[in-house]
Amino acid sequence: MLQIYNTLTRQKEYFRPLHEGHVGMYVCGPTVYGDAHLGHARPAITFDVLFRYLQELGYKVRYVRNITDVGHLEHDADEGEDKIAKKARLEQLEPMEVVQYYTNRYHRDMEALNVLSPSIEPHASGHIIEQINFVQKILDKGYAYVANGSVYMDVEKYAKDFPYGKLSGRNLEQIVTETRELDGQAEKKHSYDFALWKKAAPEHIMHWPSPWSEGFPGWHMECSTMGTKYLGEEFDIHGGGMDLMFPHHEAEIAQSCAALGHDSVRYWMHNNMITIAGKKMGKSYHNFITLEQFFKGEHELLTKPFGPMTIRFFILMAHYRSTVDFSSAALEAAEKGFARLQEAYARLLKLTPAAATSVEIKGLREQCAEAMDDDLNTPIVLQHLFDSAKAINTVADSKGTISAADLDELKAVWKTYAIDVLGLRLEGAAGSSLEADGQEAYKKAIDLLLQMRLEAKQNKDWATSDKIRNELTALGFTIKDTKDGFEWSL
Ligand code: ZN
Repeated sequence: MLQIYNTLTRQKEYFRPLHEGHVGMYVCGPTVYGDAHLGHARPAITFDVLFRYLQELGYKVRYVRNITDVGHLEHDADEGEDKIAKKARLEQLEPMEVVQYYTNRYHRDMEALNVLSPSIEPHASGHIIEQINFVQKILDKGYAYVANGSVYMDVEKYAKDFPYGKLSGRNLEQIVTETRELDGQAEKKHSYDFALWKKAAPEHIMHWPSPWSEGFPGWHMECSTMGTKYLGEEFDIHGGGMDLMFPHHEAEIAQSCAALGHDSVRYWMHNNMITIAGKKMGKSYHNFITLEQFFKGEHELLTKPFGPMTIRFFILMAHYRSTVDFSSAALEAAEKGFARLQEAYARLLKLTPAAATSVEIKGLREQCAEAMDDDLNTPIVLQHLFDSAKAINTVADSKGTISAADLDELKAVWKTYAIDVLGLRLEGAAGSSLEADGQEAYKKAIDLLLQMRLEAKQNKDWATSDKIRNELTALGFTIKDTKDGFEWSL
C-alpha cells in the first residue's frame, strides 16, 4: 500500500484518498516569463511519476498544474514589478504574448522530458473573478483588511485562531525576523502581512476591476482559488518544490483556513532542490542552465549536449526528497547508465524462451511495487531493474534460460515500471522524438549492413563480409555473432 511523506505531519503516511478510487492533485506550475530550467524539471518529473503511479494503482486522477501569468512580482513579497509585465515591457510585447510564447516552450520541454500533460492547466489570469470572490470571503471572515485599495491578510489576527507557519515549521516570531522591510509596505499593519489583492500602480499594465481598486491578485491567491475550484474545498495532494513551502504554500493554507475554516489539502509533498556543481542555482552564480541549453549542450558548464531522457533518468536516480547535484561528469555517468538500461530492454525484447528458467528473476514486480509504495523510491526501482538486466544479459549470452511465461512477465514488469511509471523512453535515442526517429532509421541501416554481411558469409564472399565488419569496427561498433544472427552496439 502506497505511503507518502507528508510535509505537514513530517512523517510517511498511508495514502488514503478522500473519495474512493479518485485522487485530486494540485502542483504549482511555472511562472511563464522565461525558459524552463532544471528547477522546473524536478517538480514536473517528480509529480509526473506520482501521477503515473497513482493511475497504475487504478485511481482516476484529476491532476491540476497551474500556469502563473499574473501577480508574481519581482520579489516574492508583494513588491516590485510583475515578472511577466516586465518581460513584456523589455521586449515590447503584449503580456499575453509573453505568456503564450513561454507556455508553448514549457510544453515543448515537458514533452521532451516525457512529462504527461496534467488533466487541467488553469491560468491565473483566467480566474480573476474567482480570486476576487475568494478574497471577499477572507474579508467577510475578518482575517483581511483593505488599505489604500489593496487587500492584505491580517496575519496576526489569523495566527490567533490558526497555527500560521505549521507547514514550514516556523512560528510568528521567526517569520517576523525573516520578513524583509520593503518599500511601499507602510500601508500594511505588519511586514509579514501578505497581499491578497494589490492596487495597480499607474505603470502596471495588467489590471482588472475589483470592489477595492483597479488591480491584480496576490500571487498566493491563484493556487488556493484554482485548487479548490477544480478539486473541491478539500482535496488529496498538493505538491511543489521545497522553495515554495514558505511563503507560498504557508500563505495558501492561511487563505484556505481563513476563507473556509479548514485546510484544503490532506497531503503536502515537496521535492528537494537542485544544485549545480555544489552551488545553488541562480542567475547570480552564472549556473542558470535552461533545459534547452542542456539538450543542445550550449552552456559553459556543459561538456556536451544531454538528451531529455538522460536528464529524466538522472533526476529519478535520486529520491525526490534528496538534493541532486548536477555536473557534466555526473550526467555523463547517468547517460551511460541509461544506455545500459536501454540496451538491456532491447535485448529483453529479442530473447527466445526455453522450456525452463535458470536465471533469478522471481519477485521483481513485487520489489518494484514495494519501492514505489515507499514514498516513490525511484532509485530502488532502478536498482531492481538493473539487477534483472543481469539476468537478461545472461540469457542473451546463452549462459542461462528463461521460460515463455517468465519472459512475458519480465517484459510486462519492464513495460509497467520503466516505461509507464518512471516514464523512461527506452526505445530510440535518449534525445527528443525527432532524434529518436533518426536513431531508429540509423539502427535499421546498421541492421541492414549486418544482414548483407551475413548473406555474404553464407555465399562465402569473405572479402565483402570482412570489409563490412572491419569498417564498422573502425567506426567504433562492436559486432557479435550469435546463433540467431548478430548483435551490435556502439
Ligand atoms: Zn502555487
